[in-house]
Amino acid sequence: MGKEESGTPHWLFGDQLGPHFIDPAHGGPHRDAPLLMIESRNVLRRRRFHRAKAHLLLSAMRHRAAELGDRVRYVKADTYRQGLREAVGDARVTVHHPTSRTAHAFVRGLPSVRVLPARGFLVSHDDFEAWADGRASKQLRQEDFYRWVRRTHGLLMEGDRPAGGRWNLDHDNRQPPPRGVTELGAPAPYRPRESEIDDEVRSDLDRWSRDGDVEFVGDDAPRRFPATRREALAALRRFVEHRLATFGEHEDAVLAGDPTMSHSLLSTSLNLGLLDPAECVERAETGWRSGGVPLNSAEGFVRQIAGWREFVWHVYWYFDERYRTSNVLRHREPLPDWFTELSPDGTGANCLSHVLEQVRTTGWTHHIPRLMILGSFALQRGWDPRAVTDWFHRSFVDGYDWVMVPNVVGMSQYADGGRMTTKPYTSGGAYIDRMSDLCGPCRYDPSVRVGEDACPFTAGYWNLLHRHRDRFERNARMTRAVRGLDRLHDLDALLEQERERRADGPGAGRRR
Ligand code: FAD
Ligand code: SF4
Repeated sequence: MGKEESGTPHWLFGDQLGPHFIDPAHGGPHRDAPLLMIESRNVLRRRRFHRAKAHLLLSAMRHRAAELGDRVRYVKADTYRQGLREAVGDARVTVHHPTSRTAHAFVRGLPSVRVLPARGFLVSHDDFEAWADGRASKQLRQEDFYRWVRRTHGLLMEGDRPAGGRWNLDHDNRQPPPRGVTELGAPAPYRPRESEIDDEVRSDLDRWSRDGDVEFVGDDAPRRFPATRREALAALRRFVEHRLATFGEHEDAVLAGDPTMSHSLLSTSLNLGLLDPAECVERAETGWRSGGVPLNSAEGFVRQIAGWREFVWHVYWYFDERYRTSNVLRHREPLPDWFTELSPDGTGANCLSHVLEQVRTTGWTHHIPRLMILGSFALQRGWDPRAVTDWFHRSFVDGYDWVMVPNVVGMSQYADGGRMTTKPYTSGGAYIDRMSDLCGPCRYDPSVRVGEDACPFTAGYWNLLHRHRDRFERNARMTRAVRGLDRLHDLDALLEQERERRADGPGAGRRR
């Protein structure tokens, strides 16, 4: 970096808060560069976010500014453009590659801003492109990418073989919840303590809401996720030392009385840039090598971060801007109000009601409720994938554009026709019944598809397969499921029932 750049200010976005975003040894700004942070009110005005999400973001930014002290100029402005003008005028600024396409286009369009490489991921854009372009098959598959990352980064490897001889331990990691328990019994996750900065954020959010300047959804509650590097490291340590060992086996299970089970709750810290993914996977590997963590748990966790998280990030950038509007299934139904309002009373389906309540109070659920309950329901009901993406983005504390677009458009709504997954992720009630304890108290029966007790997931599943039979039949992984339609003696009645449910309003499964 040139000598003149020691005085060039460096701009930190609100999701670039860890030390690796100001590290000159890794392509960051000069070590003496003054820093700039901009709190843009318009970001909150544009959409109706979960209040816990707005709180966490502002708290993390303000905590970081307090830590950086005189080195940072913290500007509160209506827009980034205004904040930048106020802080530096037309002077040169550096910034690390932002995480959304909108922010990236914005900084690239400013002649005074020099964009440094992205940080906070294991694989660079160039390396991903070389991997993707060099494949014989044009289809991008997470499993292939993950194995390549494991090899190239030497993660959980024994020589050139995967530790334990197998790349994929999903089979060991997809067990239903243990029988007869209401909790997994893992030690509780790390919980931060709020500071004066949180009080200040809360009173700002109250004032802005009162003034009608911004609108939120979801409950304001004590902050549950780390806002500082110190807190994030404590959360990582607690997870690796006390919870990682039991992460794997029941990773896909859901227990009503144990929302967090053995999940890490690290997504917010990773996405705010408080933690670097490299340190997370390295610590998990050390846990396994030192004998405290079984391989299936270490592998399951490394797969989530070095596999899924990286893959999703690169899919977001690799496909062009049109990817976000993909809608091959032509789903156009609007989301019902009870769903957008996070109102658990809007549905009689116990699983949905339970998960919505969790989202309302915390802004978080683990992967399976997102994919197999919320997302699967939206897919079966034919809700507009763009509206579903927007809903997830606004309602989840860890939601950012880069992570939501592939997870919702691709993984959960199959709106991209399989560009990043091998098949649609959806199921009937039997899967939810096997993997959770949510069906027992439900007014519906997961094994019933027609009639008063018909489970909306079971009926919705067959209805979806019928609607898209032509497309799904061409997918080798769906052929068997689609052929199952031919064995349904009551298919006509089921389709009629689902038509009526739709005519009754989009809140299928409404409480009666
Ligand atoms: P753990 O189960 O402990 O997993 C460890 C880490 O792996 C997570 O912290 C996360 O960083 C990473 N990870 C795992 N799967 C994914 C994935 N598919 N995409 C990206 N990272 C992944 N994750 C987000 O970080 N932000 C989102 O907005 C988000 N939206 C999602 C929407 C849908 C419809 C689905 C199906 C998944 C979404 N995910 C999202 C992925 C995943 O559900 C969350 O990362 C996870 O539940 C967060 O909880 P955790 O930190 O305890 O994760
Ligand atoms: Fe959900 Fe159906 Fe089970 Fe009820 S019976 S909890 S609606 S899957």
